[in-house]
Amino acid sequence: MRTPMVAGNWKMNGTLESVNSLMRDISLGAKNYPGVDILVFPAFVHLSYVKSVISKKSDEVGLGAQNISSEPGGAFTGEVSGLMLSDLGCKYVLIGHSERRLIMGESDLDVAGKFAAAQHSGLTPILCVGETLEQRQSGEALDVIEAQLFTVIKAVGIESFNNAVVAYEPVWAIGTGETAQPDQAQEIHAALRNMVASQSAKIAEQLRLLYGGSCNASNADDLFKMSDIDGGLIGGASLKASDFISIVKAAKKLI
Ligand code: PEP
Repeated sequence: MRTPMVAGNWKMNGTLESVNSLMRDISLGAKNYPGVDILVFPAFVHLSYVKSVISKKSDEVGLGAQNISSEPGGAFTGEVSGLMLSDLGCKYVLIGHSERRLIMGESDLDVAGKFAAAQHSGLTPILCVGETLEQRQSGEALDVIEAQLFTVIKAVGIESFNNAVVAYEPVWAIGTGETAQPDQAQEIHAALRNMVASQSAKIAEQLRLLYGGSCNASNADDLFKMSDIDGGLIGGASLKASDFISIVKAAKKLI
């Protein structure tokens, strides 16, 4: 059985005051759903503060960062290393989110470097993959996702996926309110699991695959019923504790 996971990507949102009340409410709600891995991904500058709020309120919520440098340290102004993140209490890091690929220009190879850096620092990478609308419309979705996944597998080896999570996030569904239909998402999740199985059936079976892209309190149930969807990576709906906890509740039904 794969432990369901719900991860909230807060992106570049929040103030000390707002993340404090958001985290307090998420921590309170999380207590009702043991058995679901519940994670939050605040901005770098809020990590330490959110960690202190989590410690006071509960241990039920894990902490992750939205990005990492592929470099271990040194003269890289503005970058944040894996050691710095694990030192702060992070356990996870998002790798290759589409906003970083498309807005910040991260290539598949850059993403592979960051994946490796995360694991060197003892962090669990959540590798984000997904196609744009144009790529879907031209029938390239699976090729794009395969290239994104296999660039990482070639760089780090399939064994590295023993300690990793993969999130399928169709770019056309992120922040648009347009969610992939459950069977559409399932089709890609099953294909992703098969791609991993072509390298190791055992790793494919235990690998958690999250869906992300306008997942919310109303559609999470139907998405999570799909056999290869093990939870969600949530953007907008993770900024409201009651919505986020409703999604956690949907994931709890997988247990
Ligand atoms: C995301 O950015 O990872 C995401 C899934 O965003 P949203 O839920 O807002 O579509």
